[in-house]
Amino acid sequence: LKLEKAAKGKLQKQICQVVLDHFEKQYTAELGDAWSRVRDVLTSPWCWQHAVLLNRFSPSPGLESSLAGQGYHPAFPAALPYLPAAFRCYSRAAPGRFPAQKHQPGRLKEYYLLNAASLLPVLALEVKDGERVLDLCAAPGGKSVAVLQCACPGYFHCNEYDDLRSRWLEQTIESFIPDPVINLITVSKLDGRQIGDLQPEFYDKVLVDAPCSNDRSWLFSADPQRAVLRLMQRKELSCLQFQLLRSAVEALRPGGSLVYSTCTLSRAENSDVINLILSSCSNVVPVDISGMARGVSQEFTFLSGMQQHELLVLPEKGRAWGPMYVAKLKKVS
Ligand code: SAM
Repeated sequence: LKLEKAAKGKLQKQICQVVLDHFEKQYTAELGDAWSRVRDVLTSPWCWQHAVLLNRFSPSPGLESSLAGQGYHPAFPAALPYLPAAFRCYSRAAPGRFPAQKHQPGRLKEYYLLNAASLLPVLALEVKDGERVLDLCAAPGGKSVAVLQCACPGYFHCNEYDDLRSRWLEQTIESFIPDPVINLITVSKLDGRQIGDLQPEFYDKVLVDAPCSNDRSWLFSADPQRAVLRLMQRKELSCLQFQLLRSAVEALRPGGSLVYSTCTLSRAENSDVINLILSSCSNVVPVDISGMARGVSQEFTFLSGMQQHELLVLPEKGRAWGPMYVAKLKKVS
């Protein structure tokens, strides 16, 4: 209890008031009553939870019993139709962190720690063996690793524009994916906005896990001046997100589908961007993901009133996952 109080005191001081004030105004208007519950979780990092995604390429004999001993349980119901048998993810309601594994060259890691909501875009993508898949904004690589826990694509292109983060992505892939599966993966450092022109109608599935105002980390910005600048530049993010989505649509073959995701609650970066794509691309239609949302509703809290092709995970005490917005679209011609 003493430690928790100390951690609480330390972490509370780091909240960036200018960001909190901005969120307070915007999210009260957009989320109504739900915002105060979300705010309680976002501003209490000692309540944050982590899920443990097991690496099917490096099974560890004692790991699942060790997780069970610490109160972890399978995060997703085994009966879900889109959940592959090899996919194993554990979570627990109590906060705290399972120890992270250090990168050791030549040695595969046994698990990846993540926010369980990050898996929803990957599950919504429903990658099948042999498909051509593009992860347009891939670093540090959590979702790329998760895609490979679900299926074995015929070709998997992981792209990240930022140089430093692209190296981080390569390291993640090396740490989790063995030969020969790794040979199916191509890592590039392109501006994702150009890939549609470079590889038109090439992919069966595209994941656009877009750069966004990361609500969790922005709330703890150490530099208030930088935070103010970021808040002012928020509008530009919607424009970048729209361009990335348009490129993703171009890169899809007719009949292929894409999933768009962000880790912000901001409507301007979520539904508004998707609505703009739907209104400007006549060959793109929404795909219903409400069945998936119902299937995982024991583990996640969703904002009510969303359309069937989208969901917004709201962090709550004991289910502190998200924020995570997910939308699915299909290119019909
Ligand atoms: N999908 C990643 C994962 O699960 O680990 C997280 C991706 S993060 C939300 C968004 C990424 O997009 C950042 O690493 C950022 O550097 C990258 N990015 C920003 N602008 C980009 C662009 N024009 N093209 C491609 N990637 C971009």
